[in-house]
Formats: sequence, structure tokens, C-alpha cells
Amino acid sequence: MDRFHPYPMSRRGILKGSAAALGGALWPGEAGRAAPQNVNTHSRPSDLRITDLRIAHITKAPMNCPLLRIDTNQDVYGLGEVRDGASPTYALMLKSRLIGENPCEVDRLFRRVKQFGGHGRQGGGVSGVEMALWDLAGKVYNVPVYQMLGGKFRDRIRTYADTDMSPDPRVYAQRLKERMDQGYTWLKMDLGVGLVEKTPGTITRPAGLSEREQIFTPHPFAGMEITDKGIALMADFVAQVRDAVGMEIPLAADHFGHIGVNSCIRLGRALERFNLAWLEDMIPWSYMELWKQITDSINLPTLTGEDIYLKEDFLKLSSSHAIRKIHPDLATTGGILETKKIGDLAQEYRVPMAMHFAGSPVSCMASVHCAAATQNFLALENHSFDVSWWDDLVNGVKKPIVDRGYIPVPEAPGLGVTLNEDVVKQHLLPGTNYFAPTPEWDKERSWDRLWS
Ligand SMILES: [Mg+2]
Repeated sequence: MDRFHPYPMSRRGILKGSAAALGGALWPGEAGRAAPQNVNTHSRPSDLRITDLRIAHITKAPMNCPLLRIDTNQDVYGLGEVRDGASPTYALMLKSRLIGENPCEVDRLFRRVKQFGGHGRQGGGVSGVEMALWDLAGKVYNVPVYQMLGGKFRDRIRTYADTDMSPDPRVYAQRLKERMDQGYTWLKMDLGVGLVEKTPGTITRPAGLSEREQIFTPHPFAGMEITDKGIALMADFVAQVRDAVGMEIPLAADHFGHIGVNSCIRLGRALERFNLAWLEDMIPWSYMELWKQITDSINLPTLTGEDIYLKEDFLKLSSSHAIRKIHPDLATTGGILETKKIGDLAQEYRVPMAMHFAGSPVSCMASVHCAAATQNFLALENHSFDVSWWDDLVNGVKKPIVDRGYIPVPEAPGLGVTLNEDVVKQHLLPGTNYFAPTPEWDKERSWDRLWS
């Protein structure tokens, strides 16, 4: 045989080898009857039906996090979580569309309910349900979720620490340095114009804006720009942080404030020498042509995505290179498989994926399985490093959940966590109960077809 022949084995040899590797299970003619015998199930998957959907709404984790449980007719349940800060209604309104369905048909049910999600917190219900369906499917077939996504690229997930801002750069630098000492290998700082606005001559803006107007007016319409003096002070702030943590560790920046596009560009250029990992959400994610202007004007990576529902807008951002990195929150995107698709689509355009996350360990593990199974993943956010009881909410995974900056990928079936009922009950939102019955959502009906 030609030594440059691309197939040194004969075709028949390959088939034989494959069959041997698989214990003969795929030898022609045998696949149909061998496969069901070899599937190790903890249930009767084809007879499995959804019977209920309930909520346990925890608070101060540090966010409000509505945990979600989908029950079945076979004493196996799935756990999910509505996006932090979102109303449980976004999930409960899906209950009547799910009762009686087989939860293992994850993608079919996702496509049935996805029209009831939207950007931001509105994506929380569909995403939470999707997590719970994967948890159920994994438990029923006795495999971890990452395996059902195609297997893992890594055994542990790099996390990055959200760190409370201080207006004193020395205090803030010290807090970030402590994260490094705890083992974190990726940092993020808040770098808002609020850090400098009390110094005269730093911000130009119309007087008399109420606090509400400042928060809810999208960036270009707030009429606020930063001066050269303000930019110099913010750069000095970052310089002091870099002095403390060094230039080697990736350091991202977020929460700049509602400044205009030109200010974003001027500030971004002034920060180039600090080699930041990314500049996050400088303007709303949907202003893609303005993002493109910013991205093309500065030599630092830009990033957005934590409020985007479904893959289509990530595809636009990635294919146009309006941003350099994407940042989906799996509890808004539509869930685990949609986020894996988002990562894979972005990778086609050479765009890497960091992941936003600010919930309980349930949603955290959904993110971990997805991060394990998505090649272009960089790092997963976490807002709960300083919540002492956060780990105690669940059992079934290694503790501490975040170990020296990494989360080991669970090997137990499904998401890999069970709830610690006592601890969850201690942190319920006042006025709510632990997975109380929800019969009021059994009959929700409408003519839901999106076309005629
Ligand atoms: Mg953010």
C-alpha cells in the first residue's frame, strides 16, 4: 500500500476494529437489539411523564434565585433555576405546556416553550425548565449532562470572581489581590465613571437627571461624556490595581456607566496599556453597529451577551465581529444546549466564550456541564464567593464547590446535585414556601401558534 495513502486500514478492517472497541454492539444487524439491553436506565424512559412544576424561591444568594423542580410519574425529578432576579412566573406559565410530556425529549419541549422567553430575565423560565429537563434525562439514563452534549473538553471549570467595588483604589486592589491569593486565575473589576464623578471636571452631563433616569436611560441618550481628566483618573485607578495583581493575570472590567460611544473609545484607548481581558457591556448589547465602532477603534477585547435570549443575536455579534468575546448567561439564553450551540457558532467565527452567572449551585452546575462540553469556553463568573452558606444549599458535589478558583465537573447523573432541604428552607424569600403546590398554573391556555 502507498505509504501516503490516507486510509492505511482497509474499510473492512476499520469496521472490525470499531466493532471490537464497542464490544461488538455496532456490528451490522446487531445494533437494533443490542443497544436497548446496554442502556442502563434508572427509570422507564419511554413511560416517563411530567406531572408537576414547583418553585422554591431563595434570597440573598446574593441574588433572589427561584429554584425549580419538575416532578414525574416515576419518582424521579429534575432541578432547574430561573434567572437570578427574575419572576418565577416566567417558569410557572410553562407548566400547562409541559404536563403529560416526556421530559427526556429535551429539544422538542424546548422548541415548544421557547416562544415564551425573551431577553434579560424573561429568558429565565424557558432556561430553568430546560436545565431541569436535562437533569431528568441524565438521571433517567444514568449519565452526567456534559456527556449528553458530546463529552467534555476539560475536567474542571475556571471561574472568575466578581469583586465588590471600592472607590479607594488601594482597597479595591487589595480585594483583587486576595482573590489571587485564594487561587483565582482570572479577575474582573467594576470600573464605573462613578469612581471619579465626585472630582470636579471629570464628567460632562446635563444637570438634573434623577437617579432613575441615570439607571434606565440607555447609554447614548443619557448625554454623558467623560473628560480627559476623568479618563486619566480611571486609568490611574487601573494602574494601582495592576500594580497589586501584576500584569500576568487576566483582568476584565465591567459597569462603566452610561457614557457615549466616543467616551467609550477614548477611555478604551487609555486602558490599552493595562492589557485588560475585556471591556464589558460598555453600551447595550443590541446596538451592534455601535459596538462594531468601539471594537474597531480600540486594541482591547470587547464583550457582551449576559442579557441575550437564544443563539441568533450571538451569531450576528460573532459573525460581524462587533465584539471580540461573547458572554452568555445560560439562565437567560434558553439553557444548556442553546448555550453550547452559541459557543459552537461563535467558535466558527474565532470568537471565544466567557460565561456570565449569578445564581445558586443548581444553575451553576448547569453552566459547568455546558462549559465542560464547549471548546471555546474561557471562564465562568460567580457572584457568590462571599456567601457563606452558598455551598450548603446542595449535596452531591465536591465541597468547596469552587476550589482554588476551579469547579470540578460532576460525574453524577444529570446536573449532579441534590438540594439540602433544611438550608434551602432557611433562605426562602419571605412569604414563600418550599416547593408549594401550583395548581393555579395547570389550566393556563392560549392559541400559541406564531403564524397563520
Ligand atoms: Mg456584567
